[in-house]
Amino acid sequence: MKVDERRCIGCRACSAISRSISISEDAGIRSITFHSHDESLTERLIEACPAGAISSGITAESITLTFRMKRCSVCGEPFATEREIEHVASLIPETHKNWLDLCPECRRAEQRRSHAWHCIRIRGRV
Ligand code: SF4
Repeated sequence: MKVDERRCIGCRACSAISRSISISEDAGIRSITFHSHDESLTERLIEACPAGAISSGITAESITLTFRMKRCSVCGEPFATEREIEHVASLIPETHKNWLDLCPECRRAEQRRSHAWHCIRIRGRV
């Protein structure tokens, strides 16, 4: 397996398939280490990678990639790599991009709040 560090967005999807891929996060940095591993998993890893960063081929040594984390604009917690957010932003319409500044927890809270306001407005019309 080979990893193209220019394409990898640090999403961790591959680490769910192979135990030879380890993740650590500290001080707003995510590190992903790709150790040499069972090549029979390569096809599954290629399918799982959303960025097309994995290809077949032998890499002699382990490599570690590091990514800066994006912090939630509400709670300040790091929740995804900046490259993951850029990747998602390139795939969705402009009108949905304001959600990308929020972590999943704050996004859910915001959705609950707007749903509650929507219900209040609907009842006000009855
Ligand atoms: S699945 Fe692909 S993009 Fe995500 S961390 Fe692994 S190699 Fe990188």
